[in-house]
Amino acid sequence: MEPRPRHILTIRDLKTYFPVKRGVIARTVGYVRAVDGVSLFMEKKEILGLVGESGCGKTTLARTVLMLEKPVSGQILFSGKDLSGFRRHELGDLRKRLQIIFQDPVASLNPRMNVLDIVTEGLVQHGMVEGNRESHAARLLSEVGLGRDALYRYPHEFSGGQRQRISIARAISLRPDLIVCDEPVSALDVSVQAQIINLLLALRERHGLSYLFISHDLSVVGYIADRIAVMYLGRIVETGPSGDVMETPKHPYSQALLSAVPAPGVHRKKRIVLSGETPSPMTPPPGCVFHTRCPKVMPVCRREIPKETVSGRHHVWCHLY
Ligand code: SF4
Repeated sequence: MEPRPRHILTIRDLKTYFPVKRGVIARTVGYVRAVDGVSLFMEKKEILGLVGESGCGKTTLARTVLMLEKPVSGQILFSGKDLSGFRRHELGDLRKRLQIIFQDPVASLNPRMNVLDIVTEGLVQHGMVEGNRESHAARLLSEVGLGRDALYRYPHEFSGGQRQRISIARAISLRPDLIVCDEPVSALDVSVQAQIINLLLALRERHGLSYLFISHDLSVVGYIADRIAVMYLGRIVETGPSGDVMETPKHPYSQALLSAVPAPGVHRKKRIVLSGETPSPMTPPPGCVFHTRCPKVMPVCRREIPKETVSGRHHVWCHLY
């Protein structure tokens, strides 16, 4: 996949493995292949939804993009620069252009810091405070719908939705280009989820942000994302424009995931219940990694890894196509 000027992120054949150690001398007995040959791209100002069951490798992929995990091979190009060529402490300016919003703002906000310190911590570290620190923080808070009165309060004094707004203010403080949103609304009530999603959409428009939006909730991803990538056992099995993937999923795994999503106005065929457990990422099955659970499995699926099939902007990795 060639990087194009409009691509903010290009990932090529990325692999992130974790060693499994056993015994008194902690001998390596195998590897968990959390991300196993992922190639993806994101355009500037795009929201890419990354979906799949828990344990499929979504969060590891995001952490690798943020250089919080070291890949064993592959390439990550951010704004055309190869991140794997840098050591973590050398990332400097690039690192501040890549930010993250976590699922659980309670765990991600330091309870001993007030809101002023939380939202300006990165700014102070990078010498980016414009004028008075309080005024700068108040401007950030107003961007996320919070008042100046929040400045000297602590995280425990806020509701879940307000805490996530503080996390978002912190994430946008360094004027990033790309924000990884790791299940940012999963811990919130449905009505609050909608407010946070609409806030993220408004900030994307205002600041030209791109989001890698990770969620297990397909209805949320279908609403916010421009494109969707479906991940199973460390690999991408389908990508395409949101409407196409939500309404006409091609890969049997995507079809099963989508069949469980209630969607007003969209006719769904009957629910597809997958049998069997997800195989261990230590010993992924040969051929198509989904063949042990696929309702449409064919003999070739057990032998050969499916190649990519492209139809317009819709890509699928399955022997049916
Ligand atoms: Fe199912 Fe075969 Fe397609 Fe894999 S390649 S999803 S096993 S039909």
